[in-house]
Amino acid sequence: MSRLIYLDNAATTQVAPEALDAMLPYFTEYYGNPSAIYGFAGKAKGAVEEARRILAEGIGAKPEEIYFTGSGSESDNWALKAAAEAYAAGGKHIITTKIEHHAVLHTAEYLEKNGFEVTYLDVDEKGIVSPDAVKAAIRPGTILISVMMANNEIGTVEPIREIGAAAKEHGILFHTDAVQAFGHLPIDVEEMNIDLLSASAHKLNGPKGVGLLYIRQGLKLRAFLHGGAQERRRRAGTHNTPGIAGFGKAAELAFRNMEQRAAYETKLRDYLIGRVLTEIPYTRLNGDRENRLPGNASFCFRFIEGESLLILLDQNGICASSGSACTSGSLDPSHVLLAIGLPHEIAHGSLRISLSEKTTKEEIDYTVDKIKEIVERLRNMSPLYEDFVKKSDGKDREAG
Ligand SMILES: *Cc1c(COP(=O)(O)O)cnc(C)c1O
Repeated sequence: MSRLIYLDNAATTQVAPEALDAMLPYFTEYYGNPSAIYGFAGKAKGAVEEARRILAEGIGAKPEEIYFTGSGSESDNWALKAAAEAYAAGGKHIITTKIEHHAVLHTAEYLEKNGFEVTYLDVDEKGIVSPDAVKAAIRPGTILISVMMANNEIGTVEPIREIGAAAKEHGILFHTDAVQAFGHLPIDVEEMNIDLLSASAHKLNGPKGVGLLYIRQGLKLRAFLHGGAQERRRRAGTHNTPGIAGFGKAAELAFRNMEQRAAYETKLRDYLIGRVLTEIPYTRLNGDRENRLPGNASFCFRFIEGESLLILLDQNGICASSGSACTSGSLDPSHVLLAIGLPHEIAHGSLRISLSEKTTKEEIDYTVDKIKEIVERLRNMSPLYEDFVKKSDGKDREAG
């Protein structure tokens, strides 16, 4: 019984063997600095530029609009801080949402401490940001809108096209944290009117520690890291050649297989959701039933603690998450679950299962059987549950 079932692909993914193969030559063979003049560095430079070309093409951008960074978090920090600074002369108001990743939320809070005013938009009960709410929040002095493309906890896909159109109409910069969507959903920065976009390799079977920021040509954003002249003087630091090569290869595979992969994951996800909701009472699905990331299923089980469920799943070799890696270790329920209107006691019983194209139906069946068993066991130890069952005769099977 030492099997491992990995169902936390929203937190990070396994590096694809092809991506690893693409990386290896740049450690010991072509280890030259891509910025060097001599011919020996040419291979390394070529790998960086080939990755840049693939990544740009996949989202309808130009290669010179792609800037390599050290992570999705860095890209989010750069986008918000540099855009705020560059456009401050036009005003100091920023619009974002209550369900962003902490890389955006905490950066927005930092900007608030430095004289900017931030509107954090509410979402509906499915986690959808209304384009009308975005429009209503725009005022003279609004310089930046940042709305994520898909939520990392509950999987909801946002109406980015409509929000981008609203931003364009008012001449306001539009940033999207596309870390969960990149390589998983079709993206076109032109059609979607995106000015700034963050992505990260390790969420699409690439290596950890490499991300990108798409910056629309013509935007005058300052450098994020000062130093050498890398990345057209906007992001200093010797290129992570292996990481970038791995990012490019992982993205190439992801773009090529996107439709097929999404179809497979969606089918398996819907099977999982169907089983959990019909077989485990007092359970709710978080996020939109259809309009969600192919690999994401997020639940709340009433009368239990998500953390206890995770520990017992782990004892059965199952890796899952309560929602966000950033909230584990803290007793606060997730800001996303609170934003969709869940009371604290229900938000505490959350479980996020995120699939990959390698997840099998057999693994899902085993996992659902275990969840069922564990939830029942935990509830049988809960005084709240005992009270509830006595009072309601078990009539109301919906949670929340
Ligand atoms: C994972 C994630 C990030 C952070 O990316 P890192 O590369 O891990 O820093 C940012 N936003 C979203 C939506 C994410 O899922």
